[in-house]
Amino acid sequence: MAFTIPFNKPPVIGTEMQYIEQVFTADKFSGDGPFNRRCQKWIKEKLNCDKVLTTPSCTAALEMCAILLDIQPGDEVILPSFTFVSTANAFVLRGAKIIFVDIRQDTLNIDENRIEAAITDRTKAIIVVHYAGVSCEMDTIMSISRKHNLYVVEDAAQALTSSYKGKALGSIGHLSAFSFHETKNFSCGEGGALIVNDTKFSNRADIIHEKGTNRSAFFEGRIDKYTWIDIGSSFLLGELQAAFLMAQFDASDKISADRKKCWDYYYAGLKELADAGKIELPSIPNDCIHNFHIFHIRLKDTYQRKEFLTHCKTRGIGVVFHYIPLHSSVAGLEYGEFSGIDEFTTKESSRLARLPLYYSMSEVERERVIETVRDFF
Ligand SMILES: *Cc1c(COP(=O)(O)O)cnc(C)c1O
Repeated sequence: MAFTIPFNKPPVIGTEMQYIEQVFTADKFSGDGPFNRRCQKWIKEKLNCDKVLTTPSCTAALEMCAILLDIQPGDEVILPSFTFVSTANAFVLRGAKIIFVDIRQDTLNIDENRIEAAITDRTKAIIVVHYAGVSCEMDTIMSISRKHNLYVVEDAAQALTSSYKGKALGSIGHLSAFSFHETKNFSCGEGGALIVNDTKFSNRADIIHEKGTNRSAFFEGRIDKYTWIDIGSSFLLGELQAAFLMAQFDASDKISADRKKCWDYYYAGLKELADAGKIELPSIPNDCIHNFHIFHIRLKDTYQRKEFLTHCKTRGIGVVFHYIPLHSSVAGLEYGEFSGIDEFTTKESSRLARLPLYYSMSEVERERVIETVRDFF
C-alpha cells in the first residue's frame, strides 16, 4: 500500500542539479575529480582527521578497513549483534570470525563493560557502531584497545556531525566509515567515506582505494609511472555522486536543523506516554551530541510492536523496525559466535520501532505521526 507519510524520503536540497552540471562542464566523471576532493576536504575539516577517501558506500569503506588491518582467516573481531550486516560482512570477507557482544539497554550501543571478556589471543579489532548517531563510550573502548593492543574501527555510518566529549564521531578510532546512502542524513543515493586517523595507514589506504596501484602518488607527481603493488579494488566514488553529495554538505546546517526540529517535536510530544511507562524514548548520554538520525521508541514487547506496526500501516504511516540480531541470522550462525549472555540484544531489538524522520517533513506530517502513536495507546 502507499503510505501517506513514508518512513523515509531521500534528502534533496534543490541545488544538486547545479552542482551536477558543473561536472559536465569540467568533463571529469571518474572518482579523482574536484567534487570528490571537495567532499573529502569538507569531512576532513569537520573531523580534523588525517585522511578521508570517498567510497561507493560505507560497506566498501568497511571492506577497506578490513584490508588495512590485515585481517587474516581465523582472526577475531568484536562487534555488536545489533547492527547492519555490513559491519560484520566486511570482516567475514577477509576470513574473520565475528565475536558478538551484547548492547547497553540505554543507547543500544555495544556494552563497553562486556568487551574485555570477549578478547582472546586471536582478537584483532573492536568494531563499534554509533547507533542512531549516538556515541559509544569511546574513552573506555579506546583504553581497552590500548591495554590489549587492538585496533578500533568506528562504524560511523549514521553518525556524521555527532560528537563525544567534543570530538567528532569518526575521528576517534584508528579507522572509521561513513555512509551516504539515501536513508542517511546526508546522501548521494549510494556513497561512503573511509576515515584514516592513524597515519600509519594513510599511504596504504590510497593504494587500496586505487585498485592496489600507486596511481594517486603518480597523480601527485611523486612517481613517474604507476603500477600494481598491493591488493585493492575500485573503491572510488563517481564525480556525479560526489557533486550531489557536496550540495548536501554545503546545506548541512539546514539539514541538521530541520531534522532536529522533527526529533525534538517527537520527543516532546511523546514524553507523556514515556512518563506513564507506556513507551521508552531514546536515551542520549551527557557526553554525546547526536545528529537526530533516528527516532525510535520501544514498546512493551514484540507482540505489542506487531500490533503497533499494523496500527500505523493501516493509517498510512511508514513505521519500520530493525535489526534482526546478526548472531541469530543464517550467516551470523555460520560466521560468528555470541560472547557471554544476550541480555538486551534480542529483547530490545524485538520491541523497537522507528518513526518517519526525513528532511523537509512538514509540521502536519509530524503531528499526524504523533497523533497516530497516541491513538494506539
Ligand atoms: C547504513 C549503514 C551501513 C551501510 O551503509 P552503505 O553505505 O549502505 O554501505 C553500515 N553500517 C551501519 C550501522 C549503517 O547504518
